[in-house]
Amino acid sequence: MTRLERLQATLERPLLVTSEANVRYLTGFRGIAALLVDPQRVRLLTDSRFTGEARALTGLEVVEVERGLYKGIAAVLKGEVAIEAESLTVARLETLRSGGAELVPSSGLVEALRAVKDEGELESIRRAAALTNEAYRRLAAETFCGRRELDLAWRMHELFHELGAEADAFPAIVASGPNGAFPHAEPTERVVQTGDLVVIDAAAMVGGYNADCTRTFACGEISAELRRAYDVCLAAQEAGVAAVRAGVLARAVDAAARDVVEAGEFAGHFLHGVGHGIGVDVHEAPALNTEAGERLLEAGNVVTVEPGIYLEGLGGVRIEDLLIVTDEGAEVLTSFPKQLTLVG
Ligand code: ZN
Ligand code: ZN
Repeated sequence: MTRLERLQATLERPLLVTSEANVRYLTGFRGIAALLVDPQRVRLLTDSRFTGEARALTGLEVVEVERGLYKGIAAVLKGEVAIEAESLTVARLETLRSGGAELVPSSGLVEALRAVKDEGELESIRRAAALTNEAYRRLAAETFCGRRELDLAWRMHELFHELGAEADAFPAIVASGPNGAFPHAEPTERVVQTGDLVVIDAAAMVGGYNADCTRTFACGEISAELRRAYDVCLAAQEAGVAAVRAGVLARAVDAAARDVVEAGEFAGHFLHGVGHGIGVDVHEAPALNTEAGERLLEAGNVVTVEPGIYLEGLGGVRIEDLLIVTDEGAEVLTSFPKQLTLVG
């Protein structure tokens, strides 16, 4: 079954797909478009700038609508139609409503399909991860001390490009010294100094699919406290990875890592969920956090395990692996060593 056929099999009523990532996943088309999926019929709705390309690329029935897309879509919708609640702005919803169709909010229908990857998707993610591993290896051979965070971030970008990535998965995080205490720090002008931990979260995209990897480096000698934080974070990360297997609760993976941090001196310093699904988007289903409810991991999920310890004014540690969930456990795609790497 194709992805579209699998989606059709789950639908109770026509679904208007407006999320760009979902349209791309279902059709391969990356232009401005929406997809109207009926149990018996699939239409790609786009404007005159894209119709030729959309027909050639997808082989689907392409309906040309007026520019601005949503007004044109409103004219096509009839009767009861499910919409993707997470992807529509209020303004677009109002425009769609003006057409008179009965719009029924839905959530997660395509995302549920995306969460389980097929072999082709896994191959793209494996390639993105292999390239990310090599970029880390090359960066670790360079000097960190005396360079700005921005320079190291740009260097990762260059390495991804040199190694054949089509894009960065996301703008690299490079957080040195006290900046490492912020989980989503953006690279700054700060110059890396001896005694810093340097958190680097960066990855490549290949074939439209994202990798994700974080490693924390030590620039020369670090304090005993930062060293202990590193060791606890690594123990938590390994406990998280060991908990990953098809059929386990997503929140149990979070708990396995969190329990290690909460049991010791760094309790209260692990500030986010342990991981997330990844694929077309860097963050997608399944989430691995305390709010994951009764959700179970499935074979073919691609997830990260990335506990962190964040110490205000001192620095931070995060260690992140990318894994394919299997019936036996996990295939770990991020192979750069997790022991603390000393850099000059
Ligand atoms: Zn991540
Ligand atoms: Zn990351």
